[in-house]
Amino acid sequence: MTANILFAARPDSWAEYEKPLRTALEKTGVSYSLSTEFPPEEVDYIIYAPNSEVQDFTPFTRAKAVLNLWAGVEHVAPNPTLDIPLARMVGGGLTEGMVEWVTGHTLRHHLGMDAHIVNPSNHWKPSPPPLAYERSVTILGLGELGRACATALAGLGFAVSGWSRSPKMIEGVTCHHGDSGLKDAIQDAEIIILLLPNTPATENTLNAETLALTAPGAFVINPGRGTLIDDDALLAALESGQIAHATLDVFRKEPLPADHPYWSHPKVTVTPHIASDTRPGPASEVIAENVRRGEEGAPFLHLVDRSAGY
Ligand code: NDP
Repeated sequence: MTANILFAARPDSWAEYEKPLRTALEKTGVSYSLSTEFPPEEVDYIIYAPNSEVQDFTPFTRAKAVLNLWAGVEHVAPNPTLDIPLARMVGGGLTEGMVEWVTGHTLRHHLGMDAHIVNPSNHWKPSPPPLAYERSVTILGLGELGRACATALAGLGFAVSGWSRSPKMIEGVTCHHGDSGLKDAIQDAEIIILLLPNTPATENTLNAETLALTAPGAFVINPGRGTLIDDDALLAALESGQIAHATLDVFRKEPLPADHPYWSHPKVTVTPHIASDTRPGPASEVIAENVRRGEEGAPFLHLVDRSAGY
């Protein structure tokens, strides 16, 4: 039986995905047909991403799984018409990219690089930064990406803490969990990195109350989701100096509207949701492996717990 695989991600990404997907699928030995068009009732797997035209899954009566190309699933997990397994992207180049982006922006703030890159007065002002072990970094979210970033930063010597829903043990990282663990994780943190998913439970995790717990003059780095931050509270904390700088990759509305105060704020760095992108080569291997599993009746990898929303 041939597995019909519908590429329902953005049409403009078909050109970059078609070849790597075929290469990865060939290796599985599965008999397949891959296309951007099938009658819905003949589709076995749906490769999916935000902005996909498919919003109603009910016509896909024989589909076995939706395979999301993104790590975040807030655009599909709550869809009430979806009643088949939903797998998200884990790997696919995302972890490496996020570790690089997070490490780079953490080091920028830790080393105070801006003072030397932007030095309008040409002042010779030696002020050596602290060493990494003197700098406390807290990562909110210790999943695939948060754990990898925590491990990388701990490897550089930073004093890393983290927070997740369930208990974790990560070498070199002080782990907190559950609602009661958030305060301990943020208390006196000098750099806060957000790698939580967008769910109702994580909305406004950084708010006036939690921002007040950080060390004065702390840095916020958000490659997670815009909803994790109460924007008004962050702007107030930047104004008061409680937060020295925020580096933001994700926003409640994307693209970030031209008149948003973040664009021109001297203490905010905006990057356009590029912290980490799914790479077609390795991502195709992940998709193909799940198709293989589906065809063999084996459990899918990276399934989303839709009741938790991630
Ligand atoms: P995971 O699902 O692997 O990890 C999520 C982490 O958040 C887990 O540790 C989880 O806890 C924790 N968490 C979830 N809800 C809560 C809660 N209510 N309280 C405390 N902790 C909670 O996701 P990934 O690491 O793969 O990705 C994280 C997010 O990064 C994505 O959801 C996406 O929004 C964002 N992202 C951004 C990209 C970018 O380019 N800017 C690229 C890729 C991802 P537990 O471990 O106990 O389940």
